[in-house]
Parts: sequence; C-alpha cells; structure tokens
Amino acid sequence: MLSRVPRIDGVRLFLDGRTVQVPIDPPAASLARYDMDAALWRGGRQRRAVETRTDSGRAGGYRTGPFHIRTAAGFVTARAVIDTAGRWSNLTERPPHLASAPKWIGLKAHFSEESPAPTTDLYFFEGGYCGMQPVPLGDELATSRIVVCSMVRADVATRLEDVFALEPRLLERSRKWTPLSEPISTAPLLFRPPVPLRDGVLRAGDAAGFVDPFVG
Ligand SMILES: Cc1cc2nc3c(=O)[nH]c(=O)nc-3n(C[C@H](O)[C@H](O)[C@H](O)COP(=O)(O)OP(=O)(O)OC[C@H]3O[C@@H](n4cnc5c(N)ncnc54)[C@H](O)[C@@H]3O)c2cc1C
Repeated sequence: MLSRVPRIDGVRLFLDGRTVQVPIDPPAASLARYDMDAALWRGGRQRRAVETRTDSGRAGGYRTGPFHIRTAAGFVTARAVIDTAGRWSNLTERPPHLASAPKWIGLKAHFSEESPAPTTDLYFFEGGYCGMQPVPLGDELATSRIVVCSMVRADVATRLEDVFALEPRLLERSRKWTPLSEPISTAPLLFRPPVPLRDGVLRAGDAAGFVDPFVG
C-alpha cells in the first residue's frame, strides 16, 4: 500500500502574506485514515497478533472491573479496558456539553488540482486555519487529488467556500479546484483538559481529551 501513496517532503505555512517552508525528511506517506485503519486491522488478523471484534460498546463493570464489553460476536470480559475510541466513544461517559464554550467546527472535502505540490500546506486566518495535501487517487501513484480540511470558528464560516475567502492566496488557489466529493463537517469541537482515567477505564487519544489539533 505504501508504495502507491503520494510522498510529502515539506510543510508550507501561509500567514500574514508570508510563507515559511520546512522540509520533511524522510518524506511522509499521505494515506487516508480509513486505509491505514483497514491495513492495521487486516495485518493484525492475518498475523494472528490480535483478536478482533467489531461493533463494541460498554455493557457493564465500573471502577474496579471486570469489564463487560458488548460486541457483534457476543460479550467480552476483560480485567482492564483502554478506551481509544475517539471523541464520541461509547465506552466511557461523554463529558457534558459546555454551553459557553466557543463553537469550532471541522470541514473537509476532496478536490482535484493540477500538479499539486508534494507538501502539507496550512493557510491561517483570523478564526481558524485551512490545510491541504495530495492524497491517493485509487491505485494511481500520480495524483491530482487533494484533501482540504479546515478548523474554523462557527461565527467566522460554516462552509469551505467561505473559508477560502478568508485568505487571499487560498482564495486564488481554490478557484482552480474542482470538487471531487461532497463536503463533510464535524461539530462541536470542544477543547478540554485530558481525563486519562475514568470509572476504572484508561483512556488515550481523543477519548481522553480533545485539544486544539494544531498545537496538540
Ligand atoms: C477538524 C479537525 C482537524 C484536525 N486536524 C489535525 C491536524 O492537522 N493534525 C493532527 O495531528 N490532528 C488533527 N486533528 C486531531 C486528530 O484527528 C485526532 O486527535 C486523532 O484522530 C485522534 O485519534 P484517536 O485514535 O484518539 O481517535 P479517532 O481518530 O477518533 O479514532 C477512533 C477510532 O475508534 C473507532 N471506534 C469508535 N467507537 C468504537 C467502539 N465502541 N469500538 C471500537 N472502535 C470504535 C472509530 O471508528 C475510530 O476509527 C484534527 C481533528 C479535527 C476534528
């Protein structure tokens, strides 16, 4: 799989009319999270390194265990649980919504761009930023497909078109793009201090806490 994905050999930051370029050496491989997860899943199963179950959810066992986890293939009982199921994990209790917190949203779509630079590009503006990089196009190595993501305050923009208009160089560049996917969004993005242990369950990654992705 890795031989068929674009290589990213630098990062470009666009801010206040200036550009900073930093090399990535050795170059990074640009692949979709879904493809990486699926490859890990298949690899673990084929090598019998892990036992895999799908559709899991917390069914019981609190603070001291044993913990009972419901899965598509029946129940699993465990002495310990590490929850790595992300911001919307159903393995541990969700934190309460903070009504007063600033509302941030995430936006994403794929576009085609002629000969995109092999870099991760980040454009900054008041109220957020927008990033993009080449991503694989099916089995073809030569790619013109880029993924474009933005994290933006909801009072600043709620659509990618509005995001592009917030940075002049991004606006000019985006005029040459053709959409390849419907945009998707995620909200609310609520930043909280991490809570790595709750009700006896260890938590890692976003399940433990979501921090500003750019600095976190
Ligand atoms: C808009 C936005 C922009 C971001 N930009 C950046 C960035 O530029 N750089 C950066 O480093 N980070 C960025 N992040 C943060 C980054 O995406 C997350 O920090 C990272 O994906 C967290 O990884 P995770 O494995 O903890 O959780 P997730 O990526 O959410 O993965 C959790 C996985 O668990 C699975 N799952 C859920 N429930 C269960 C269950 N019950 N049983 C089994 N599996 C389950 C899910 O399907 C998913 O595959 C951004 C996030 C957002 C929202």
